[in-house]
Amino acid sequence: MAIASINPATGELLEEFDALTDAEVESRLATAARVAVEYRGTDVAQRAHGLRSAADILDAEVDTLAGTMTAEMGKTLSASKAEIAKCAKGLRFYADHGADFLADEAADAGAVGASRAFHRYQPLGVVLAVMPWNFPLWQVIRFAAPSLMAGNVGLLKHASNVPRTALYLEDLFTRAGLPKGAFQTLLVSSSQIEAILQDSRVAAATLTGSEGAGRAVGRTAGEALKKVVLELGGSDPFVVLPSADLEKAAQTATTARCQNNGQSCIAAKRFIVHQDVYDDFIAKFVARMGEQKVGDPTDESTAVGPLATEQGRQDVIDLVDDAVAKGAEVLLGGTVPDGPGWFYPPTVIAGITEEMDLYAEEVFGPVAAVYKAADLDEAVRLANVTRFGLGSNVWTTDPDEIERCIDDFEAGQVFVNGMTTSYPELAFGGVKDSGHGRELTRHGMHEFCNLKTVWVG
Ligand code: NAP
Repeated sequence: MAIASINPATGELLEEFDALTDAEVESRLATAARVAVEYRGTDVAQRAHGLRSAADILDAEVDTLAGTMTAEMGKTLSASKAEIAKCAKGLRFYADHGADFLADEAADAGAVGASRAFHRYQPLGVVLAVMPWNFPLWQVIRFAAPSLMAGNVGLLKHASNVPRTALYLEDLFTRAGLPKGAFQTLLVSSSQIEAILQDSRVAAATLTGSEGAGRAVGRTAGEALKKVVLELGGSDPFVVLPSADLEKAAQTATTARCQNNGQSCIAAKRFIVHQDVYDDFIAKFVARMGEQKVGDPTDESTAVGPLATEQGRQDVIDLVDDAVAKGAEVLLGGTVPDGPGWFYPPTVIAGITEEMDLYAEEVFGPVAAVYKAADLDEAVRLANVTRFGLGSNVWTTDPDEIERCIDDFEAGQVFVNGMTTSYPELAFGGVKDSGHGRELTRHGMHEFCNLKTVWVG
């Protein structure tokens, strides 16, 4: 895949970049290794100052940066601005809490015959981050903020379709006052990642992206015995039970499915509705999905912009076509509009069966698959039927049903009567084929720390 900015709303090539040569990669690895030694010696207050400065720069440059993000990957301008604000908040969160998260943890010295015993969090060194385009700033910041705060240095391999945002990120941290080289962007193709990860100067890796990419990076990390965090795909269930506020559930379902033009790992993708409220909920949901305005992502009235890549749209078309050919019923949308750009309309499909790819695969576009469940048991079974286990969502006011879903959903996160969202204050990650490890909170920071046990006699 060429490293290029292409406007998904028009198909226009904005700028193309050459991948780094092996010699250029070597030079950046050498820089990272050198700066890692210096940077681990900085104190947490100094690092926190750098993160706060980066947040201030984001605040000041929100308009131009939002324009870059929207032009590269098609999210609406308002969504780009919201993402930038979230990144500023995430940076400040780790600046505020980093020292606490990294503080020594006392152990029971008497029980182990020591005069002093404790655990200390220390940086691992150079961490490679392989990141996707869908939240081109946030996916990177949610790794970079805790990792830099912990004293690691970062090497970013961003998705090939967001090179301008990738280069901005390196520049951001340099201008924020971090040592030059503490965060470097590598404009490289995915085929160059195996050798980089095998390099002894790289201590660990994190990848957010598809299952295939996760398996490839996980395999290399495994062979090299390196720590890896994998944040992969999801096909989150959104379960609606009879006591739910249907109006609110339908409104949230629409936002959840259409946010980021339908391209979010934690978007609700499968809507599982109890038979007693199925007709009522579906009528409300289809009506709201139909109201979403599709079009130019720079227009403030647009709710759904284009999909980020031509291939991404083709994948959505193929999933819908396969379901329709096998007997699924299209309740809304399902037809590609004429004209330039990789647009796809909000779509609702019912009658999904096991033979259809839509049953098991993640659909990365504004397509909602709806299912009717006879009772709570069937709803839970359907919720867990895919190999993914990222987020999950349930709508009910019944305390027993809430407890049952919290316990039995096979997912890294359960949101009850509200939209699944990532917050710096809540741990984020999945189980099953959605990956392993956690981001955000203190848990995300500790993923890339050496938890050193100290015993003093
Ligand atoms: P992708 O193709 O896997 O790309 C993600 C990153 O991995 C890109 O930088 C890509 O580089 C790189 N990559 C791809 N194949 C690789 C390989 N064999 N070895 C090393 N690196 C490789 O993912 P996508 O289709 O752009 O993104 C959408 C997917 O990401 C969805 O499945 C979505 O659910 C998932 N996602 C998960 C989370 C989460 O937190 N769990 C968040 C957001 C997205 P190139 O661009 O150069 O190919």
